[in-house]
Amino acid sequence: MRRFDGKQLVLASHNKGKLREIAELLKPFGIQVSSAADHGLVEPAETEETFAGNARIKAHFAASETNLPALSDDSGISVEALNGAPGVHTADWAETPQGRDFVMAMETLWTKLEEIGAPAPRRAAFNCTLCLAWPDGHDEVFEGRVEGQVVWPMRGGHGFGFDPVFLPDGETETFGEMDPARKHDMSHRADAFRKLVDGCFA
Ligand code: IMP
Repeated sequence: MRRFDGKQLVLASHNKGKLREIAELLKPFGIQVSSAADHGLVEPAETEETFAGNARIKAHFAASETNLPALSDDSGISVEALNGAPGVHTADWAETPQGRDFVMAMETLWTKLEEIGAPAPRRAAFNCTLCLAWPDGHDEVFEGRVEGQVVWPMRGGHGFGFDPVFLPDGETETFGEMDPARKHDMSHRADAFRKLVDGCFA
């Protein structure tokens, strides 16, 4: 396992929700963080069928373009009754010609569950794969997960993406209702991040 001993790190993402959460998680390490947009990077096509595959594409692209170590996040929600969909295609479900619309994506998800009459609880998990890549081509990959269920109607204005319809196991508030500090403690991203810290920052 390679340790991160640099002072600068590029967050290989254009997603504002992810950037906010990862920057918050990195705060204690005193690393100078920049984003893909700060470097004028385009978004590479995510052509793989796994979270790890797509995380690698994004991190290696940013590392080779900037000549700095880069951290990417590939994540999504997998719903049991939909055989794991939307999974790696989570962001695609929100695409419209005017940009991403997650209210529409959550409505699509709920409508599909209603159409097939999926029994409650509608089990789901959020996955997050972090990839830390160096400009010499080396990488380290960490997987995080949180289990829960999809609920309706949407609840809460915190977070991003599918947070308002995800109720983690053992909780009464969705990720959208929860204080962001609590989400940072228990999310799929926090789980992957703890593994990254143990592996590369400890
Ligand atoms: P990608 O990793 O860029 O392919 O996009 C992952 C998508 O999954 C995001 O656009 C969000 O919709 C969703 N997602 C990932 N993590 C979270 C989260 O913590 N809360 C809510 N939605 C998430």
